[in-house]
Amino acid sequence: MEPIRMVDLHGQYLNIKSEIDNEIFKVIDSTQFINGDAVKEFKKNLESYLGVKHVIPCANGTDALQIAMMALDLKSGDEIITSDFTFISTIEAIALLGLKPVLIDVDPDSFLIDPEAIKKAITPKTKVIIPVHLFGQSANMEEIISIAKNYKLHIIEDTAQSIGADYYFKDGHKQKVGTIGDIGCTSFFPSKNLGCFGDGGAIFTNDDVYATRIGSLVNHGMRVKYYHDHVGVNSRLDTLQAAVLKVKLQYLDLYNQKRIDAANYYDNGFKGNKNIKIPFRVPFSNHTFHQYTLVTNLNRDKLIEMLEEKGIPAMVYYPVPLHLQKAYHNGYKKGDFPISESLSKSVISLPMHTELSKEQQDHIIESIINIVDLLK
Ligand SMILES: *Cc1c(COP(=O)(O)O)cnc(C)c1O
Repeated sequence: MEPIRMVDLHGQYLNIKSEIDNEIFKVIDSTQFINGDAVKEFKKNLESYLGVKHVIPCANGTDALQIAMMALDLKSGDEIITSDFTFISTIEAIALLGLKPVLIDVDPDSFLIDPEAIKKAITPKTKVIIPVHLFGQSANMEEIISIAKNYKLHIIEDTAQSIGADYYFKDGHKQKVGTIGDIGCTSFFPSKNLGCFGDGGAIFTNDDVYATRIGSLVNHGMRVKYYHDHVGVNSRLDTLQAAVLKVKLQYLDLYNQKRIDAANYYDNGFKGNKNIKIPFRVPFSNHTFHQYTLVTNLNRDKLIEMLEEKGIPAMVYYPVPLHLQKAYHNGYKKGDFPISESLSKSVISLPMHTELSKEQQDHIIESIINIVDLLK
């Protein structure tokens, strides 16, 4: 059996090596390292894949969030509501722009932002809601859209972990996550469902005015060379990264399906075990399993240690809720968000990627069931 990894980027690369190498060498040969043809082609291909009017590639997912906020005329002190249980990027960008992050608790089953909690957190200063489509499935966008309409708020979707997932509307139509709110943001960090060979990101919108503004913001706030209309940033997707992404985008549906199959296989293996809770699926989205995350009340450190002895890596996403991060206390204290705090102590993510074999999964499942039996 091959050694088990959290993410197997090397195995994934070997399956498409000739295509990738070919595209990379084309870029090197052209020496168009900035805004080369591959960037334009990838942008077009992603627009058609997502069914969105504009994709603006940028340097990483954190920049994507920051630039999306810069595109919405916000002023210092404006409040942005987002989830307490996620990666740091979202509130980092909010804080850097002098805006105020307002954190809220999540749903205990899906780990996603709770629309009822959004309503309670709204003040006259609230301007934006940032739902994070955590671990591979969408937040409840129909409820969030209705709240945003009522209170005239913008929606920026953080779809760094859920690219390619579909949102199912009550009227029967479906739409790719990240294309539903005013602006969507994603990351092409290597381990994401669509990852490049370094840093990368993109911003999506159906709004022409935002698209023009964002296109200028990512490139020093200019539209005509050396004429700067806005205070911008330097955040472009490298041509080499776009070349990799152009190839991998063709496989995104297959990659997501492989993750879904692996998740279902895990589910089946853990079925009926009372000491571990398998991932909950929301009814309004499919789950593209960026992470396969269990919840357990057993001794998690011990569990991880015993898995390690069996050659099985496991990770905790995330061990500290945002409101307890040193840099972001902002007057919050322990006990403010009990669900998020409890999840940070009880979640454990298993190896999840496109190259997992049944043999590896059988070993993982069997080991966990045995260890759980010992620990309970
Ligand atoms: C990865 C990630 C980001 C940031 O992406 P980078 O490309 O690493 O800057 C933002 N939000 C979420 C939820 C993420 O998982």
